[in-house]
Amino acid sequence: MKSQMNRISTRVTALFSMFFRIAERQTDHKKLTRYIVALNQKKSQADIINEVAKCFKDILNYRLFAFVIQKDNGVDVWLDPRMFKKSLEQIILKDFNIQNQDELNYLNHTFHPGEHEEQFKMDDLLSYEQKEENFHSRIYMLPQRTMYDYHDEIAGLILQSCAGALSQQVKIEDLKNAAIIDSLTGCYNRREFESQLKRNIAGALRHKTALSIFMFDLDHFKKVNDTFGHIAGDKVLKEVSELVRSNMRTGDILARYGGEEFIAILPGASKRKAIELADRLRMKIEKNTIFSDDFKIKVSASFGVSQFNPKADMKKFIQDADDMMYRAKLNGRNTVMPGLIKVIHEIALDGKEQTIQA
Ligand code: GH3
Ligand code: MG
Ligand code: MG
Repeated sequence: MKSQMNRISTRVTALFSMFFRIAERQTDHKKLTRYIVALNQKKSQADIINEVAKCFKDILNYRLFAFVIQKDNGVDVWLDPRMFKKSLEQIILKDFNIQNQDELNYLNHTFHPGEHEEQFKMDDLLSYEQKEENFHSRIYMLPQRTMYDYHDEIAGLILQSCAGALSQQVKIEDLKNAAIIDSLTGCYNRREFESQLKRNIAGALRHKTALSIFMFDLDHFKKVNDTFGHIAGDKVLKEVSELVRSNMRTGDILARYGGEEFIAILPGASKRKAIELADRLRMKIEKNTIFSDDFKIKVSASFGVSQFNPKADMKKFIQDADDMMYRAKLNGRNTVMPGLIKVIHEIALDGKEQTIQA
């Protein structure tokens, strides 16, 4: 009698747990549908990844989470800030067959030394993979609850929808980039420069702030091509523009204006500040060596600077920088015009730094 009662009790428990799992499964699938709809409405890669993070947390109750997406132009990593970066980095490098950790671009977090990070057992880490024509992605997580078979199915579905949404986003981003970015140097193209300059002029007028630009052209660049070849010339253009870009502030904008000529927008910068920056960049270009095959190539550049005058227009603003660059060429090249001494003299006569007067 007692053993019969025990059998019944075990069966009832099993039945309850089955019903409970079916009910739970239905709730999870309903939630999943809502997340998938939301996912497909997101307009950026970061928003998509955030939504996936929310979905994994809500349905699967992950403990830690990372998302890695490898595209043609690099590897983006979204990492839960509590995740132990060092351990995971090694796994990512292996999974994505990457040699150098500098190739990883962390989307959401800057890591500080000594920051609290959770350690975890590698064996507990689950990962799901998705490959599409234009990218390869993986999700890493540590589940906190019992994982049933259908959870794998759910994780697969989330990843599939995420892959669809991301793939579309990557295509849109590629198209947008192709329209505004110069493919050789990665700088903005001339058309995009003009639209950004218009926006910056409007901002400078509205907030009564200074706005300057500088233009530079590589000196005797034809000789570089003639001596070392066109491919080496291309490498010079690429590396010089990277050098300049990496030494400008985040809000500054660098564009390729034509062949070996570049132009930069410096929001908030007075003419004096722009000249100082241009001269620092000029020296960096002069000191830099570009290696191409067995050649060591040295180049220099001539800069022209101008500050926006609210009484003039955009055309005049650019023309002033162009005229100054021409003067720099006439002055023997590898120089910045106007020279700082002249500008300081003007400021002394004026009694104040030239700022915007609307
Ligand atoms: P200057 O100091 O007066 O500016 O002399 P320069 O030789 O730099 O000027 P010039 O206008 O005579 O020559 C510019 C050269 O830039 C000629 C052209 O072949 C080269 N160039 C323009 N665009 C590219 C490019 O995309 N790749 C390479 N490799 N060369 C380019
Ligand atoms: Mg030139
Ligand atoms: Mg030129």
